[in-house]
Amino acid sequence: LMQLYLPLNFMGMLYREIRQALIDIGEMFTILSRDPEVRDRPDAPPLDAEAGELRFEDVRFAYTPERPILRGVSFTVPAGNTVAVVGPSGAGKSTLSRLIFRFYEPQSGRILIDGQDIAAVRQESLREAVGMVPQDTVLFNDTIGYNIRYGRPDASDAEVAEAARLAQIDNFIRSLPQGYDTQVGERGLKLSGGEKQRVAIARTILKSPRILVLDEATSALDSFTEREIQQALDKISEDRTTLVIAHRLSTIVNADEILVLDKGEIVERGAHAQLLARGGVYAALWNRQRQVDAARATLARNAEAN
Ligand code: ATP
Repeated sequence: LMQLYLPLNFMGMLYREIRQALIDIGEMFTILSRDPEVRDRPDAPPLDAEAGELRFEDVRFAYTPERPILRGVSFTVPAGNTVAVVGPSGAGKSTLSRLIFRFYEPQSGRILIDGQDIAAVRQESLREAVGMVPQDTVLFNDTIGYNIRYGRPDASDAEVAEAARLAQIDNFIRSLPQGYDTQVGERGLKLSGGEKQRVAIARTILKSPRILVLDEATSALDSFTEREIQQALDKISEDRTTLVIAHRLSTIVNADEILVLDKGEIVERGAHAQLLARGGVYAALWNRQRQVDAARATLARNAEAN
């Protein structure tokens, strides 16, 4: 029986190894080949992002020709400033971040970083200069330490731990029996949405890009986690050009400029106080959000009381 068991056991192991390798390769392809149509010109120079000014010039974009998503969007984020984009669901906010990464290219208009059209530079250099904290972070089936170090593979253990501390996830990791060596992802520990987002923040802190794109999660986080994440985000966006795709208004009150996007057009722009005083779309969004927040707080209080 043993003679039969050993080879079968071995084949089982082999099968698991191959399956895992396929999953890892699959993951790599999703990340590397988001959109195979976007290619570099053979002579494309690398992006030279010194200051990190980000500029949209009359950008028009549609995923499918019959449905325009961005209808001539222009704005500038001066180096080191924070600009927030708000607007109703489907307005095209996350599309802006996909264009900055060149997952897609505009049909017309230009996106410039320090005066260089991002369509004319090497994608690899663009993705080095821009860091993104996405709505949903993909974790690799590996250790939590590996997942953070992915932001800068040559980082030391101390640097990984410091990034985790700034992202407010260090204490959580230390509380795990295997600490930074804990396996996460499909085969390991499942992290909550807020924990995954903090791993993404730690990754980005390590990467330390000139330009930061924060695509806030739409999913409701509890207000404690939300505050912690906000503090971590405030830290990394200090002194760095930041575009915040905001789904919660409370997080953008201090932005240098707020853009209100509606049906692919910027319909209002200005600082928080100016926009409130105007009594337009932003003021309406703000008031509605305040009501939602108040209702959520009441629900939470009632749940605690029971
Ligand atoms: P939300 O606040 O709900 O996240 P958003 O303003 O970020 O919305 P986008 O994700 O930019 O909206 O999407 C804008 C529009 O483009 C939506 O109507 C969406 O259905 C459409 N869209 C998004 N991705 C694709 C795609 N890959 N192919 C076709 N249409 C898409």
